[in-house]
Amino acid sequence: MSFDFNFKVVLIGSPRVGKTSLIIKYIDGIYEAFRPTTVGVDFKYKDLKIDNKKVRLEIWDTAGEEQYRNPLTSSIYKNTDIAIIVFDLTVEGTLKEVDYYIKEIENKCRTEPLIVIAGNKCDLIEDQIENIEEKIKEILKGKELRFFKTSAKDGTNVNELFYGIAKELKEKN
Ligand code: GDP
Ligand code: MG
Repeated sequence: MSFDFNFKVVLIGSPRVGKTSLIIKYIDGIYEAFRPTTVGVDFKYKDLKIDNKKVRLEIWDTAGEEQYRNPLTSSIYKNTDIAIIVFDLTVEGTLKEVDYYIKEIENKCRTEPLIVIAGNKCDLIEDQIENIEEKIKEILKGKELRFFKTSAKDGTNVNELFYGIAKELKEKN
């Protein structure tokens, strides 16, 4: 089977923010509360139809910071089209770490991937987090803002997160 577009997507972000859970929810439609921490890197495919074109997403899961000490796994950044940086809406420090991951992308990706930010676990927050978009804009320093509040648990914005950016990229190519 051939595809009109093949896009490589990588999910990065601090450990335990829900990267693996978002991928599993998106691809398999399930959520598991007790998920063992990811070891190493892994990828899965998701095939989409966008405006009658066949699009294959190759979605890479990463294990968090520990991977960067392993030079072999920095190959995950090779030819990345889309970088999804995930943070945990309930753990403030993980938003600050988004900055670190943006720098990682700038330093390690030779391609200039589209960047999307996912504030995950929105099922756990009742109130709006004040100025969250402003904070993200500051971190992005003029880069285009693409931000979703997601939940791997209840599925909020999981499809939108992947589909929206795939459509945008398809239209650019
Ligand atoms: P990763 O290290 O970034 O891959 O994070 P995991 O996907 O392993 O998730 C870490 C923990 O957070 C697990 O116990 C998940 O069940 C939980 N988790 C992930 N996503 C969500 C979410 O959207 N809502 C809630 N309430 N818990 C989540
Ligand atoms: Mg994981």
